[in-house]
Amino acid sequence: MKIDIITIFPDFFTPFIETSIVKRATNQGIVTIKTHQLRDFSKRKHQYVDDTPYGGGRGMLLQFPPLYEAIKALKTENSMVILLSPQGQKYEQVTAKQLALSNHLILICGHYEGVDARIEDYIDLELSIGDYILTGGEIPAMIVADSVIRLLPGSIQEESQETDSLQQGWLKYPQYTKPESYLGHDVPEILRSGHHQNIEDWRQYQSIKRTYQKRPDLLKKIKLTAKEAEILEEIKKIGK
Ligand code: SAM
Repeated sequence: MKIDIITIFPDFFTPFIETSIVKRATNQGIVTIKTHQLRDFSKRKHQYVDDTPYGGGRGMLLQFPPLYEAIKALKTENSMVILLSPQGQKYEQVTAKQLALSNHLILICGHYEGVDARIEDYIDLELSIGDYILTGGEIPAMIVADSVIRLLPGSIQEESQETDSLQQGWLKYPQYTKPESYLGHDVPEILRSGHHQNIEDWRQYQSIKRTYQKRPDLLKKIKLTAKEAEILEEIKKIGK
């Protein structure tokens, strides 16, 4: 997969690209990430890319021409052009899964007061990472890139991906690592039993219980199997 990021702050992305799983995925050729300085697409003096809003109001907007020229230079017929914006569709794991099937993502980071609205005619998707306002689209772009990259085959172990929270709709079961006991806090006995089927059953139960307790809203989106429905009923009866 190729990810092109259009931004006025490319340096923001250097540690992101050069750290951890993203770095490994780029080194292994699973993904190519390139940042593009929006100013390089400006025809104005001093490569300015922002100006004041028509009609008045505070702040500066990223201008339409450099954004348009950047998209034109990078877009191919397989590209998915995404504008990061608080007005977009709320970004969720289900969208990450869809984007992971693309060959090429172009992520556009707004800044200041945002972008000239005419660019909306040239994007395929507008994504918001949540109902709050950030200074720029750089962190949202990293969030989208990170969540998509970890889904690309070979990026991380597929088994770990499949049991991640939200991947199948559920929250993940609680996990523990060494030491076995600390200040009277013990790792559940069953996880130390070595009995694989019991462990699997416990994890499924805990996963359903966590989802019911912490994010009951997610249950509406999950198509329950007969076994899951039975477990959920049991949890509801116990009331915890
Ligand atoms: N004035 C704009 C508005 O009211 O809709 C907000 C502009 S915001 C300060 C600047 C840029 O940050 C946006 O153009 C967008 O790229 C990014 N941004 C801010 N919050 C975001 C969010 N929740 N999701 C995605 N991008 C966001």
